[in-house]
Amino acid sequence: MVPERAIKELKSLYGKRLKDDTSHKLAYSFDATRIEAEPDLVVFPLREEEIIKTVKLANRYGFPIIPRGSGTGFSGGAVPIKGGVVLSLTKMTKLEIIQEEMLAVAEPGVITADLQREAEKKGLFYPPDPASLKNSTIGGNIAENSGGPRCLKYGVTKNYVLGLDVILPTGERISLGRGLQKNVAGYDLLSLFVGSEGTLGIVTRAYLRLIPRPALSRSIRADFLTVRDASEAATDILSSGILPAALEFMDQRSIEAAASYLGEKTSAGASLLIQLDGDEHSVASGIIRVKEVLKRHNVLEILVSSNDEEEEEVWTLRRSISPAIASLKPIKVNEDIVVPRSKIPDAVDFTYNLAEKYSIEVIVFGHMGDGNIHVNFMIEESERERAGQAVIELFEWVVRAGGAISGEHGIGITKARFLELQLGKVQAEIMRKIKHILDPNDIMNPGKIFK
Ligand SMILES: Cc1cc2nc3c(=O)[nH]c(=O)nc-3n(C[C@H](O)[C@H](O)[C@H](O)COP(=O)(O)OP(=O)(O)OC[C@H]3O[C@@H](n4cnc5c(N)ncnc54)[C@H](O)[C@@H]3O)c2cc1C
Repeated sequence: MVPERAIKELKSLYGKRLKDDTSHKLAYSFDATRIEAEPDLVVFPLREEEIIKTVKLANRYGFPIIPRGSGTGFSGGAVPIKGGVVLSLTKMTKLEIIQEEMLAVAEPGVITADLQREAEKKGLFYPPDPASLKNSTIGGNIAENSGGPRCLKYGVTKNYVLGLDVILPTGERISLGRGLQKNVAGYDLLSLFVGSEGTLGIVTRAYLRLIPRPALSRSIRADFLTVRDASEAATDILSSGILPAALEFMDQRSIEAAASYLGEKTSAGASLLIQLDGDEHSVASGIIRVKEVLKRHNVLEILVSSNDEEEEEVWTLRRSISPAIASLKPIKVNEDIVVPRSKIPDAVDFTYNLAEKYSIEVIVFGHMGDGNIHVNFMIEESERERAGQAVIELFEWVVRAGGAISGEHGIGITKARFLELQLGKVQAEIMRKIKHILDPNDIMNPGKIFK
């Protein structure tokens, strides 16, 4: 509970930018997991000074602060499970593209796609491309270290973060990295904050590396009869010395769902989407080489985008999977495991076997190129316990196989009880101590990452 005296001070700080009515509390009670818990109130800061004062009040009165971007998170990171003040960063949207430094300076509420578009206007490129990029914020991407299809060739969000301004849980402001291309002074605290899921501080400004924009990108959609054919083709593409910008995989259910969501039809048992980028010549020769590899793996059909419009259509299909499957069953238990690339076929088989064992439906798609597979158990409320058992077995298998329980979505609340399974006691304890040093009163997004 936020005490009355604190609410009074927050009201004088934020005026109409403080909301405590029922509809706002409801709107800010959940993220994409649909787990719900209402905050006491929501505030919309415009300036760092407001955030600093809010954090100091939280320490004085002992209430939680939950930083929030667009609420598209898939692990419950922005859900106020202990009540408190949701700090919505969506009104902090200043953005500057500094062409000569190949740098973007963004406030946390900038939408990822807007940053990409502004960079592209100046011939520059910001590669991280979570499928949620039209909605998610840069602050949320940094807090989750988000990835996406293009991360196969270009790396994830952390590879583009050159600097961060952060308000610590104790109210101090620090500048990390300073936006320099190189900087090895002291411990790498910058990396500590990327992926810290809003538990170590509030990002108020990000200095992001931009690179030259590739002249062209074209994509190949290859349909197969079986998942194994598709995954063996993917492995063969990479071991043939071709590095696509993206190499995505969809199983039969995910292609069907996305295609029907877009009013299309398909009969594929599995598909790969392979994106090649660069200059016209390298893209054209890459397409020829990829086609040769695909033909060695019982490919049924190969479609190549021939202009920018068709290129966009291919990726609209891929980005439609999540919203399309969400409407198939009341509950989507959405896991994003990672395995060594060579173990992808085994991981997919294991997942299908689990679904059979627990009599639940599963839909699998993901980033074949980097071993990151989205496993979606699609269930009714009555199947929740069985799905929970399936997830435990899946995570145990993943850890045994040398993989990770999350490649993109973070730990949040949904995976907090599995943190030690993944990291072991010693690492988990080091992380707890780091959290305690930075946030001695446990006011910053409490109840996340650690159970
Ligand atoms: C349809 C769909 C597709 C998706 N596809 C992908 C994908 O391809 N790849 C991927 O990685 N993820 C994906 N996601 C997950 C999600 O979009 C990402 O995790 C995204 O980065 C969250 O951004 P957000 O602005 O919505 O953050 P929120 O959900 O609001 O918050 C996420 C976390 O970040 C913290 N946070 C937010 N802003 C700040 C800040 N300024 N300072 C400190 N902490 C902060 C919050 O406390 C919370 O812990 C997808 C989600 C959906 C719904």
